[in-house]
Amino acid sequence: MKRLIALLRQRCPVCLCGQVFTTLFGMQTHCPVCGVKFERETGYFLNSMFIGYAAGFLILVPTAVLLAWMDVSILLFSLIIIAETALLTPLIFRYARLIWMHADQVLDPRQRER
Ligand SMILES: [Zn+2]
Repeated sequence: MKRLIALLRQRCPVCLCGQVFTTLFGMQTHCPVCGVKFERETGYFLNSMFIGYAAGFLILVPTAVLLAWMDVSILLFSLIIIAETALLTPLIFRYARLIWMHADQVLDPRQRER
């Protein structure tokens, strides 16, 4: 439960306290509280892209189905899907990385650096 709250609050997967993101897409390299390096190895965040793709797909499909059911024009359909994608990208980007880091911490735990 503590981990789920830390994940939702976008906190460090190791100490569950340190803030992970500094700007919309900008990440700390190390946790400001426990000092653990977030990018564990080169290409570490590649797996989060799969989570991001899946989340984006699962979020956009209901909208696409609804718009198709409403029989809107292809222009309106495209504009709504593009707008939804643009608005959700920061959220999906952040939570894809956070879900990956927390899942990795559960499966292969690391210790605090300090
Ligand atoms: Zn930490």
